[in-house]
Amino acid sequence: MNEFVETLLDLPWQVGDPKPAYDVVIIGAGGHGLATAYYLATRHGITNVCVLDANYIGSGNSGRNTTIIRSNYGIPESVAFYQHSLEMYQQLEAETGSWIMHSTKGQIWLAHSVSTARTERTRALMNEACGAKTDYIGPEEIKRLCPQIDLTGGGRYPVQGASYHHEGATARHDRVVWTYAQGALRNGVHVFQHTPVTGLLKDGDRVTGVQTPKGNISAGVVLSAVGGHVSTVAGWAGVRLPIRTHALQAFVTNAYAQEFAPIVSSNDLVFYISQTPRGQMLIGAEYDRQASYRTSTSYSYLQACSAKATTLFPFLSKLRILRSWAGICDVSTDFSPILGHTGVDGLMISTGWGTWGFKAIPAAGEQLAELIATGTAPPLIAPFGLDRFAKEAAMADPSSAGTR
Ligand SMILES: Cc1cc2nc3c(=O)[nH]c(=O)nc-3n(C[C@H](O)[C@H](O)[C@H](O)COP(=O)(O)OP(=O)(O)OC[C@H]3O[C@@H](n4cnc5c(N)ncnc54)[C@H](O)[C@@H]3O)c2cc1C
Repeated sequence: MNEFVETLLDLPWQVGDPKPAYDVVIIGAGGHGLATAYYLATRHGITNVCVLDANYIGSGNSGRNTTIIRSNYGIPESVAFYQHSLEMYQQLEAETGSWIMHSTKGQIWLAHSVSTARTERTRALMNEACGAKTDYIGPEEIKRLCPQIDLTGGGRYPVQGASYHHEGATARHDRVVWTYAQGALRNGVHVFQHTPVTGLLKDGDRVTGVQTPKGNISAGVVLSAVGGHVSTVAGWAGVRLPIRTHALQAFVTNAYAQEFAPIVSSNDLVFYISQTPRGQMLIGAEYDRQASYRTSTSYSYLQACSAKATTLFPFLSKLRILRSWAGICDVSTDFSPILGHTGVDGLMISTGWGTWGFKAIPAAGEQLAELIATGTAPPLIAPFGLDRFAKEAAMADPSSAGTR
């Protein structure tokens, strides 16, 4: 967090260095680490908790995402989990008294061919049956919801129809991070920025704490919530995860004077677009195919993504790309999160958030806090344990990405 923002926020940072021991040490002060700390404190009274970040809070993907919240996933377990998270987001301002700029916009997931129209009809039926309000809509309704769209798709990608997810929403990403940080700090949790964890402490096969430049810290439980750096942390414990780290790029344009109300994704063109509260058009696509830790953007990405977006939304060609960025994403082999026990005593993980984990922050934090407090995985996250891969019970859900 930069110094200017720190002056605007009422974050009751503790002074001094971390204590030598805590009940829970969380590595990573992104949304997931901080939400878990917040719910440990507020739901379970566990406040002897320390969250450490190598950089500033929200400096990872929690402060770099395109802020989409939705629950129209591809398998029932995911729909149930993300719907719970979506509903928690709807309540978060009331619970915390903190403004996260939550806005329900609806998400239109376009089909441009007969086969993707079938996919979107199936998605709508499946989502509706599992509790995520979704209808299949035709071109006329799409045009009514989003007048800017060229239904001919530039003559190449005619819009056939779409699934419409009524409760699709956005919230300001860094405000979500600050809200959880503030809530955790006010309840006695310690949060230290610029404090990298450099290794794990072990007693035999058990993880007993973390190493930092400020000294070793013992912990009853260590939770890794380090986003795209998870393979390194798991590696310290000898755990090899079914995760690869890929960069995901995004960009915003200068402000567009008219309102662009919904979030729109295209199944065939593989990109998505929404409007920020400042009026800028925010555009994203798929993660880079090549695994890497790069956070710079590429001209070829910007060119390809702009070409797709202007095909459906010609008004974009009059705007300029203002800013582009990338984040490194922990993509699991089945596109679902991996939560909880690692098989190594004392070490838990919150990972596999790939390009889709912002929307999951409230539910994952709440459910992981319950697992840490009670030792039992609540039903909502029980299917998402690491042990599913050994049991050949992968939770394959390509619709995590929000473009397919
Ligand atoms: C461009 C882009 C667009 C996206 N759009 C969406 C979207 O629209 N909707 C959605 O749901 N998701 C989206 N995502 C994904 C989402 O942002 C992430 O899944 C989510 O933010 C992950 O949160 P996290 O807390 O697990 O990780 P992060 O926010 O990445 O936090 C991890 C933290 O760990 C710290 N850390 C790493 N190593 C160490 C160490 N050794 N010691 C101490 N600290 C360490 C880092 O500094 C970082 O602050 C997007 C991602 C990107 C990059």
